[in-house]
Amino acid sequence: MKIDRKLSLNTLAIHAGQQPDPATGAIMTPIYQTSTYVQPALGKPLLPGYEYARTKNPTRTAFEQCVAALECEGDNIGYGAAFASGCGAETTVMHLLEPGDHVVVSDDVYGGTFRMFDKVFFAGGKGIQFTYVDMTNLAAYEAAFKPNTKLVWIETPTNPMLKVIDLEQTIAIAHKKKALALVDNTFMSPMLQKPFRFGADIVLHSATKYLNGHSDVVSGVTVVKDKALADKIYFLQKSLGAVAGPMDSWLAMRGLKTLPLRMERHDFNGRAIAQKLAEHSEIAKVIYPGLKTHAQHALSSKQMSGFGGMITFVMKGGLEKARKVVAGTKIFALAESLGGVESLIEHPGIMTHASVPPENRKALGIDDGLIRISVGVESVDDLWEDLKIALAL
Ligand code: PLP
Repeated sequence: MKIDRKLSLNTLAIHAGQQPDPATGAIMTPIYQTSTYVQPALGKPLLPGYEYARTKNPTRTAFEQCVAALECEGDNIGYGAAFASGCGAETTVMHLLEPGDHVVVSDDVYGGTFRMFDKVFFAGGKGIQFTYVDMTNLAAYEAAFKPNTKLVWIETPTNPMLKVIDLEQTIAIAHKKKALALVDNTFMSPMLQKPFRFGADIVLHSATKYLNGHSDVVSGVTVVKDKALADKIYFLQKSLGAVAGPMDSWLAMRGLKTLPLRMERHDFNGRAIAQKLAEHSEIAKVIYPGLKTHAQHALSSKQMSGFGGMITFVMKGGLEKARKVVAGTKIFALAESLGGVESLIEHPGIMTHASVPPENRKALGIDDGLIRISVGVESVDDLWEDLKIALAL
């Protein structure tokens, strides 16, 4: 789309990276379900770069450009790369590093990210070192750097404890130490948090979650603003091959069109449900950045433009009660994942964070009675009724 004015994210979500198909005028980008491209003459592809579909696919390119436009708040100023999953995006980014390099990681990252770092890139003999640190403690964070620190891996809000990390401060410290700063923006999406405003070098998503939003695709994305870094990522993308397929790219791009609308409703529902949970007698603690009781509520209000749909709470009755609650809801489905239009409920200790060793879980506060919900976009009254019934079991 070529319009010289600055466009709002609501418009970019629908149009960025997309134009009517030149062959037919079809308004929707076709699903280019092809593995290769016929060359009119030897060594002269019809379009530069379109020689083999692992390297480039037009449907994937449109999706990549649309996500990049949302994160960068403008068309054609950033570089997106789409992968077969969020973990595929992470694997590719990790190949920017060399054996002997060191990474500072938020202590409460997604369990699968921890497993990849711990079991593949560290214990797996790839020679990368990691220090996990509570990044809400800036002194501890700064002390975690080593002369060989090349990358800082920030996930905020953290998963599942929803700690909010100060992006401005942590990224400034990373840059002072000459390390790249990556922000996993999966939980907030570009609608509610804009890591590039705070100087992030790489923004990463599990597009499986809010970006696609309909629980029918596994995908991942990176966005960068620096051309040299983008070229490195594109080289790794085609060399490692964990690319997003055309069908998944198309579905995720369709999902993006309603991202602004969905995030508004996730945020509205999240705030309302968190407040009601906080008033419930069976619950010991509710963690939600939008509640005044949240340890980083002031920072959250400044850094994010909403609080989203992820809520964590601890049952007074511990594991036994938590088991009843997660099995007792009818609209909230008992399932891993998050960020879809439908509401989900899960037990991090037994499900998403089972790969985090019990002693680490304990230190992080991942209690046996802890439940995580992803509040969808259904009627908030129906959702609360569903939870209320399960909480009384
Ligand atoms: N980052 C976060 C915050 C996640 O929650 C997840 C998955 O749950 C991932 C990354 C990995 O993404 P995927 O499951 O698409 O590989």
